[in-house]
Amino acid sequence: MHTSQMAALRLRAEQSLLGGVASGWNHLSLTGPIYFKRAHGAYLYDVDGRRYIDYFLGWGSLLLGHDPPGMRDALLAALQQGFCHEYETESQILLAEKICSIVPCAERVRLANSGTEATMYAVRVARSRTGKNKIIKFEGHFHGLHDTLLFATDSSPRLGALQEGGEIEPVPGSSGVPSALGELVVVLPFNDTEAFARAVERHHADLAAVIMEPIAMNLGCIAPDRAFLDAVRRITSEKGIVLIFDEVLTGFRVALGGAQEYYGVSPDLACYGKALGCGMSIAAVAGRKDIMEEIYPPGQVQMGGTNSGRILAVAGALAALDTLSRPGFYERLSALTDRFVAGMRSLTQRYDIPSYVEGIGGRIGVYFGLQRRPRNMRDVLDGWNQGFHNECYLKALEKGLYGVFHPLPFSPESITLCAAHTPEDIDDTLDKIEAIFKQVPYTRTG
Ligand code: PLP
Repeated sequence: MHTSQMAALRLRAEQSLLGGVASGWNHLSLTGPIYFKRAHGAYLYDVDGRRYIDYFLGWGSLLLGHDPPGMRDALLAALQQGFCHEYETESQILLAEKICSIVPCAERVRLANSGTEATMYAVRVARSRTGKNKIIKFEGHFHGLHDTLLFATDSSPRLGALQEGGEIEPVPGSSGVPSALGELVVVLPFNDTEAFARAVERHHADLAAVIMEPIAMNLGCIAPDRAFLDAVRRITSEKGIVLIFDEVLTGFRVALGGAQEYYGVSPDLACYGKALGCGMSIAAVAGRKDIMEEIYPPGQVQMGGTNSGRILAVAGALAALDTLSRPGFYERLSALTDRFVAGMRSLTQRYDIPSYVEGIGGRIGVYFGLQRRPRNMRDVLDGWNQGFHNECYLKALEKGLYGVFHPLPFSPESITLCAAHTPEDIDDTLDKIEAIFKQVPYTRTG
């Protein structure tokens, strides 16, 4: 697939960048990195001039595509105010006001740069508030790469052993993360109310927080069971445990007010990144005033940093939220999602490929081999035809689909849509997927 330009850049990159990449996630499984020259809307152009329809979209951050005009104008205007300064202006106040008006749980806001930072700080706030240390997280939910929560993720080298009461061994998701920190993390299967209630009974004297992706979008697209979500909210409230929604992927995506608006369930704290900045490096922790006040000032939790709340990122986020707030935005995104999901379902039926397909807010999980809705990571593993998935991924890439059927070790990566995709892009993509199904015979074993 790669011509000499791509191959030459690869060789050159490896002489200065580890593994040939500036960011590890760009070293794609099965293929390694692809080098691009430019991007526009939902399209990417590689160094050899090949066009791709982008379905990775900055790992879910580029909800408006690569170069939305509203953001470009706002960023150019911000540059006139002084290059990248990070002191307080009215813009940060405007952004916090906007977040408080949009997000149900948000009474106060503090800014950061990445989703990783946001979840790290949220846990620190919960520990400060409760004076306790343990955190419940769910298997396969991803909260960034910091040491506190990097357990039982798709980068863990193996599945954790099942333990007493339905708990799961917290296997670190990276070399260098002390396994001793796993003693502060209780890993549970998602959507298992009994295991959750048992774990709270067992650990509540030490439990500071429960953190969850309200929709498990790092496992494709797994929605919470209504009864499970309600039980988690009720039990954490009763026991004084801080409930943190990691809305880094769901925030401003599944609805303007994120998953908490979508389900009508408010956490105590919520973490944002990705679509908050639609491509800019910005993140936030938002939540109840009495809990947020743990943060300095007025509280004692340290949260700040050289790059936090920079004017350029704030200007980008303000412009992004402006576009996302326009009437009809989420209806259109839903219509694109439904078109993709319906098309995939009918293709897999036509080609007799057992599959489950689910999509919410432009994040679509396609699970080849599964016959029914997975409710957690073990359900995915119990039937996912990874071999077929991998073959389809490589063929999709050849056909100029970037991020369709990308496999992770324990689940499929979701296919991501953005506002720059058109119904014609979706139809064109489905045609290409049909061609793949004609080329790649479905074999029952992965
Ligand atoms: N939380 C969730 C749910 C994520 O999906 C991610 C990244 O994919 C993060 C946190 C970490 O965000 P970042 O990559 O901005 O550090």
